[in-house]
Amino acid sequence: MSGTTEPFVPTARTKVKRAHERGHYDRETVYAILDAGLMCHVGYVIDGQPYVTPTAYWREGDRVYWHGSSASKMLRHVKQGPPVCFTVALMDGLVLARSGFHTSVNYRSVMAMGQAEMIEDPADKLAKLEAMLERIVPGRWPELRAPTAQEVKATTVVSLKLEEVVAKVRSGGPIDDDEDMDLDVWAGVVPTPTTIGAALDDPALKAGVAQPANLAKIRIG
Ligand SMILES: Cc1cc2nc3c(=O)[nH]c(=O)nc-3n(C[C@H](O)[C@H](O)[C@H](O)COP(=O)(O)OP(=O)(O)OC[C@H]3O[C@@H](n4cnc5c(N)ncnc54)[C@H](O)[C@@H]3O)c2cc1C
Repeated sequence: MSGTTEPFVPTARTKVKRAHERGHYDRETVYAILDAGLMCHVGYVIDGQPYVTPTAYWREGDRVYWHGSSASKMLRHVKQGPPVCFTVALMDGLVLARSGFHTSVNYRSVMAMGQAEMIEDPADKLAKLEAMLERIVPGRWPELRAPTAQEVKATTVVSLKLEEVVAKVRSGGPIDDDEDMDLDVWAGVVPTPTTIGAALDDPALKAGVAQPANLAKIRIG
């Protein structure tokens, strides 16, 4: 049901076993991670061959969406509704322990399983493409030339309903063995934040076109 606040129910596929205390099934955690990312990986199998395709995505309600050329092998396959595994991973820091064994990474990640559905209706597709542009730069869609019917036709948009979903989060410092705590080895966390750089004008930019204020609204990480 769209808009539900109920947590996801762990299944045999989404029950976290390794470091199970890092597993989260509440929508708030899952949605916050999905809304912080821009790049996902879509896993699927064609003729017994596994593929994992990195691509951009966005979330609306209880669905994630991704898009691309209608000629894309990945999209031509997943729009038929085979099982897919969708993941998003954000790295927050390098966790440097007193031993290699306990060296780790701080992260937030989500894994979702299911079957993607194609957005068929051109008006729906256009609305989804607008949502994608607005996710990247809030307020940009109205500034752009409107898409042509051919551009919309040449684009496939698919969505995955978030039903079988889990988040896994590691935070905090190293977890060393007691007997290592007196070692003269530096330990701690090196943050690895995702930063938005200063915008660079297209060298071919028309004279007098200024950078829009909405570039400051770009959020990732
Ligand atoms: C940036 C990053 C770096 C990482 N580096 C390492 C590393 O170097 N070594 C290492 O061992 N692990 C690392 N992990 C954790 C890794 O993703 C796995 O959680 C871990 O390897 C255990 O895998 P498993 O198959 O045994 O998990 P299991 O607990 O057996 O997995 C069961 C189910 O739990 C869910 N699940 C497991 N892991 C995740 C996850 N990360 N996000 C969402 N759902 C998950 C899936 O639904 C999976 O089917 C890293 C994660 C991230 C995001």
